[in-house]
Amino acid sequence: MATIRFKALDVLLNRKPVEVKYPSDNVSDYYGENVFGIEKMRRYLSIEALKNVEKAIETGSRIDRKSADQIASGMKEWAISRGATHYTHWFHPLTDATAEKHDAFLEIDKNGNAFETFNGDLLSQQEPDASSFPHGGLRNTFEARGYTAWDPSSPAFVIGKTLCIPTIFISYTGEALDYKTPLLRSLAALDKAAVAVCKYFDKNVNCVNVNLGWEQEYFLVDEALYHARPDLSLTNRTLMGHASAKDQQLEDHYFSSIPERVSAYMKDFEIEAYKLGIPVKTRHNEVAPNQFECAPIFEEANLANDHNQLIMEVMRRVSQRHGFKVLFHEKPYAGINGSGKHNNWSMATDTGINLLKPGKTPKNNTQFLTFLVATLKAVYKHGDLLRASIMSSGNQHRLGGQEAPPAIMSVFLGTQLSNLLDELEKQIPKDKMSPDKKTDLKLNIGKIPEILLDNTDRNRTSPFAFTGNRFEFRAVGSTENCASPMIALNTAVAQELKKFSIEVDSLIENGIKKDVAILKILRKYITETKAVRFEGNGYSKEWLEEAQKRGLSNITSTPEAFKAYISKETIELYKNCDVLNKRELHSRYEVRIEGYTKKIQIEARVLGDLVMNHIIPTAIKYQNLLIESVKGLKEILEPDEFKVITERRIMTIKKISEHTKFISLKAEEMIQARKIANKIENPTEKVVAYDNNVKPFLEQIRYHVDKLELIVDDEIWTLPKYRELLFNR
Ligand code: ADP
Ligand code: MG
Repeated sequence: MATIRFKALDVLLNRKPVEVKYPSDNVSDYYGENVFGIEKMRRYLSIEALKNVEKAIETGSRIDRKSADQIASGMKEWAISRGATHYTHWFHPLTDATAEKHDAFLEIDKNGNAFETFNGDLLSQQEPDASSFPHGGLRNTFEARGYTAWDPSSPAFVIGKTLCIPTIFISYTGEALDYKTPLLRSLAALDKAAVAVCKYFDKNVNCVNVNLGWEQEYFLVDEALYHARPDLSLTNRTLMGHASAKDQQLEDHYFSSIPERVSAYMKDFEIEAYKLGIPVKTRHNEVAPNQFECAPIFEEANLANDHNQLIMEVMRRVSQRHGFKVLFHEKPYAGINGSGKHNNWSMATDTGINLLKPGKTPKNNTQFLTFLVATLKAVYKHGDLLRASIMSSGNQHRLGGQEAPPAIMSVFLGTQLSNLLDELEKQIPKDKMSPDKKTDLKLNIGKIPEILLDNTDRNRTSPFAFTGNRFEFRAVGSTENCASPMIALNTAVAQELKKFSIEVDSLIENGIKKDVAILKILRKYITETKAVRFEGNGYSKEWLEEAQKRGLSNITSTPEAFKAYISKETIELYKNCDVLNKRELHSRYEVRIEGYTKKIQIEARVLGDLVMNHIIPTAIKYQNLLIESVKGLKEILEPDEFKVITERRIMTIKKISEHTKFISLKAEEMIQARKIANKIENPTEKVVAYDNNVKPFLEQIRYHVDKLELIVDDEIWTLPKYRELLFNR
């Protein structure tokens, strides 16, 4: 009987690209058709209700009960016209996915007649029985209630037959249990601090928004093969598998033409994305075989993040129609590139200025420098927090490899811009500034746009790079909710901007002119943050040494990195900016370490099962074949001949014994290590036990499994091999 591996390969050979038709020649004809945006609201809402929503979106004001009822009723009518039968609050719990619980619009009246209903209460707030979401000790078991509350700043949408309403998710006592709540708080903190700084330059600025453009990398694998690999289907990564003879050495995948089956899939999910108002723009092959990327046009950060979560969901769903599984894991395969999710981040004013883009006048450029340097300072001061925000059991396999930035947080500005900061540092005097000096300085600052025109450096090895009009946080993992790094970054920058205002104001109070005061503080910050600027190769050994000399931390242990969530500095920072309180931070820390522990635990279990049920039995089967053949040869050959002919075969038999012996021994030790770790109550000690005492077995066992894969007859090997998983479109 054919093994599941060969059945899967059979399925694969018979796959055909699915035919996908565009709903219309122009995307604009169907773009956003499943979103209850302002245009639809105009049609379905009263003028008063519409005004209320618009105000809530702009200022975060509350929507009164009467308007909420009207909005709910309009929303329902629209959703039903789009085929919806159910509604749900859609939120981002502290897991790798969004959550939803569907309720029908259906209601029954006194006489037993059915009718559709949805009102302001149901729209604004719900009380899901949320006791099974991660909460890190925030919800006592006797108080399992959590609340979801409508976020009007992100529009409702219809997916399938369900109206989805983006919401925040908080505990009975008001603490955040999700990503969206602190994201919104961090955006508010940054808005406030940035507006105050903008006022030095332009009194007309009333609001600063954060823009986010994410780039989502992913792998595709044939669904049949995926199901034949329990490690992939249970942990989203391969826990074993010998390298394919050919993988990415020829560098022939990146930007090459997209295979037809994949291209049909991309087209299909892009159509869905457009209907949901997600402005996907870019698609291409990535470096590793079967690895791809998609990126939209940037949007306001909260909306962009909802869209990222949504598109991941859409991509998962649509992949089924094409016989694919989409892998968002950071490192599904050892030895080839993993996947990241670059977060392109910038700040823009309501007057239409991108604060990270140099302007036309020295004044604009000084403003640009202020925001640039404040960001440098944020990364410098809160690098540990930024690292914690992107670390995970998956991302740890990627960071510090020859493909992704290391665990040292540094900023790449490009040599020219970096040199300019050095020059400014020298040029701005510590004390008095003569009028001539001031003119020189302004000339220099005025040159920034030209400098940036030449600045085509692209440093792929930096975790945090300036790319002309934005920063690109490149260390983020492909599974991560963008909110996690965005919360940390927004808050850290808000804090540094606040400090900047305080310092500038104090100089002004002491009689120093505003523009001189700003320059002086900029100079001080340039000096203070020098250590975080790095233009060289982040993969090099020299950088590890250099970073150490500069006092930059390099934390490669994931459990250790998570501790930055509960450091004194972070607690201060988040309290200062009203983003998360101490209890909320502790809960986040616990959620992270528990998630990490559980993932290692699952991987260890899956590997244990696989070696006992697949690898060892297969190896023994093959070994027996060899033994039979040796015995047979002994009967028919002369002793001398026999020795020469079977020498290597007997060596193979012995090798198989060695590998299987090692594997079963280590599998047993791994079980023991897990048992010991499981008994530990304290989560911080437990995660360390898993990290130090369980995790290393995964690699050790894998080494021998991969050796066996090379030895054993391909015909009886039960698990799809790397070459099959990676070259199967
Ligand atoms: P690359 O791979 O060269 O970095 P991509 O085109 O794949 O570039 O992605 C760049 C992302 O950055 C896109 O989502 C784009 O919309 C976004 N972006 C461009 N300008 C800004 C900006 N000012 N603020 C935030 N994101 C931006
Ligand atoms: Mg990029």
